[in-house]
Amino acid sequence: MSRSRGIEAKVQQKEVLQTRRNGWNENIKNKNEDHSICPKDDAEMQQIKDLLQKLPKLDKIFSVHRKIGEGTFSSVYLGSLRQHARLPPDQRRWFAIKHLVPTAHPARVEHELRCLQDMGGKNNVIGVDLCLRHLDTIVFVMPYIPHRKFSEYVGEMDAAELARYMRALLTALRHVHSFGVIHRDVKPSNFLYDRENKRYLLVDFGLAQRVVAAPAPPPAHSNTLKRPREEDESTQEPKRIALDLRTGPRSVNVALPRPPAPGCACAGAGGVCAACAARPPPRAPRAGTQGFRPPEVLLKVSAQTTAVDVWAAGVVLASVLCARYPFFRAADDVAALAELQDLLGTQPLQRTAAALGRRLVTSVCRPGVCLRKLCARLRGAAPPPAAPAPPPAAPAAPPGRACARCRLPPEHCLCRDHTVPATRIAEGVTVAGFPDAAFALAAHLLEPDPRLRPTAAQALEHPFLREV
Ligand code: ADP
Ligand code: MG
Ligand code: ZN
Repeated sequence: MSRSRGIEAKVQQKEVLQTRRNGWNENIKNKNEDHSICPKDDAEMQQIKDLLQKLPKLDKIFSVHRKIGEGTFSSVYLGSLRQHARLPPDQRRWFAIKHLVPTAHPARVEHELRCLQDMGGKNNVIGVDLCLRHLDTIVFVMPYIPHRKFSEYVGEMDAAELARYMRALLTALRHVHSFGVIHRDVKPSNFLYDRENKRYLLVDFGLAQRVVAAPAPPPAHSNTLKRPREEDESTQEPKRIALDLRTGPRSVNVALPRPPAPGCACAGAGGVCAACAARPPPRAPRAGTQGFRPPEVLLKVSAQTTAVDVWAAGVVLASVLCARYPFFRAADDVAALAELQDLLGTQPLQRTAAALGRRLVTSVCRPGVCLRKLCARLRGAAPPPAAPAPPPAAPAAPPGRACARCRLPPEHCLCRDHTVPATRIAEGVTVAGFPDAAFALAAHLLEPDPRLRPTAAQALEHPFLREV
């Protein structure tokens, strides 16, 4: 732990002992929140007791009330200042006390703390008030924000609320990216939303990665990166349930890098051929949560950029539009690629893979799903009006006849129309109350090629968000 010694000294105490009625703290009485400030059971009470015993300094300054969150790398508790114990709840200052798992690598802890210190406290990014450590017990003390689970409001948001939410998320990402940092774990449980007071906080820099300038930066996302080996394998949230876009059996193989291994026989095979299986696996960062990983991560491209976070923001947007969370539910990277194939279409994904120096072999060819149609279907709304067919039209089904690609009747067909860019905005058109621009933005953020994906700053200029 020698490297983490001194971490606490680097954090200024700021005005941690002062009362600061700054709104965050007054919201403890938010009606959507669990009002209780007591542990929910004996086990939780024991955890709190253990923590306070291991870290007497924490006990001296704070009352620790109950657990408010648990991630893979930490437990988070609600705390308040001991000196405020006699104040009514709405006058106390409330904190989120993040207790890191003792196995966290000191360098990782230091990096998370640096992110909070350097970037936090503005633009919807969580800051840190204090860090305490004794031996391997480390806590970050941060401002508390009341919030509900995303799954509870994902189907309730209307267009205006969604635009505010996405604007807040992209503002946080623009800020983080301006420091040359990839958050790497953008998802609703790390973007806390106090719905009642329209406040937002991007939290959890536990997987964040500092990027270094690439020798020849591409225009949109100009960084490449290197990180300790330890992070390559870290992923670790429970797999999630979600939308199954499957309409039949499928399988996807990735062969890396090009050209194919001598004797490669993957094409047409239902798995990775022996020649490819014998090759050393590529090393690429894959920290993050399943369901939010972009193609470049799943394809094991080593030079990843802040575009990783922009993709994840696109998944969040698609989730709200379709009122489904989680949106993807694959259990592993190959299944996740198959899900991306279902959504984006086989050819666009194969083109992206090729552009990134990867070869994607699939046993099926998917047309891709139209997010507008999917939203209408899942929300029981009227489907979007058909786009006017361009002159050399794709073989569209005659009215009332099955779709030539998915063979489903038109009312069940979800196929993407590749003759019309999904990013084009049909003025005046809405689907389930969401303007077409919202779907166009989702298509932008879910651009498979990271070099063509907009930056957070560019996305903030999108018509769906501009007026917010
Ligand atoms: P982990 O790295 O373990 O995922 P997080 O920093 O994401 O830890 O925190 C886990 C959970 O704790 C969050 O999803 C959230 O519910 C809660 N939490 C974290 N920070 C705060 C905060 N500042 N205010 C309120 N709740 C928080
Ligand atoms: Mg988290
Ligand atoms: Zn179809």
